[in-house]
Amino acid sequence: MSIHDLEPQETYSLYAHEESVIRQAESMLGKLDDVANGVRVLAQAYREGYRETVRLVRISDRMQEELHAANRTLLDQAADLQQLNEVLHKEIERREALEHELRRIASLDELTGTHTRRHVLELGEHEQRRRARHGHDLALLMVDLDHFKRVNDGFGHAAGDQVLRDFGFLLRSCLRKGDIAGRFGGEEFLAILPETDLATARSIAERLCDRVRENRTLWKDHVLAVTVSIGLVTVHGDESLDKAIARADQALYLAKRAGRDQVMVGTEPDVDD
Ligand code: GH3
Ligand code: MG
Ligand code: MG
Repeated sequence: MSIHDLEPQETYSLYAHEESVIRQAESMLGKLDDVANGVRVLAQAYREGYRETVRLVRISDRMQEELHAANRTLLDQAADLQQLNEVLHKEIERREALEHELRRIASLDELTGTHTRRHVLELGEHEQRRRARHGHDLALLMVDLDHFKRVNDGFGHAAGDQVLRDFGFLLRSCLRKGDIAGRFGGEEFLAILPETDLATARSIAERLCDRVRENRTLWKDHVLAVTVSIGLVTVHGDESLDKAIARADQALYLAKRAGRDQVMVGTEPDVDD
């Protein structure tokens, strides 16, 4: 059957049907366009999002590299600092040792190798305080070379210096570890004997007297001999070092008056002193 066989009513109905199908198809095409547009927008958004993510990942990678580099630099700097620190420590130790040595040299009398007057007094004050705290004995010897002027006058100042050098050695060798010897004046010496009672100090002083008397100093073609006089005291109660030294000096004076080449023990301190 062809369309021409249809009744006009039926033909109209068929057109209407086709028209409706076409309209539906057009409407569906319109919707498909909308969907396609939506997909394009989404794709665009996705592309941009992806590009942004890639960009951020690259930034993050670069930052990480920079952080690593900075970290390496910091580690290198820390190692350099550590090295510098070690060098500085060694330098400080070297300087401290040098300073200690310089102070030691400055506190020693060059000619006799005994302490300087100032230093022996400082050490004496320290021993006196220690004695006052612990109550142990503390002995002082004031030693003076006898008729030393005669050596200078007879053989010259350099000969006198050699005698002083020899005496410095003898004095130090007669003292024990912990004892202190200092050059108090030209040919006068102070020995400080911590934790030493009168009897022990006396035997040390006597031995010093003997050894000086027996000693000979060779000077050019001369053989020089000297003796010493010694004033000995032990520090009493809370007596000051100055007062004890004054008593030792007085005892030395008495040793000289009694004929020299001997040890004289000092008198007890006055009660009011
Ligand atoms: P005394 O027995 O009474 O102590 O008599 P002394 O001759 O030893 O005493 P005096 O005080 O009359 O003389 C000490 C001399 O020591 C005088 C001084 O020139 C000398 N003298 C001091 N210091 C030094 C020094 O460093 N080297 C030398 N060679 N002589 C010195
Ligand atoms: Mg003298
Ligand atoms: Mg003198």
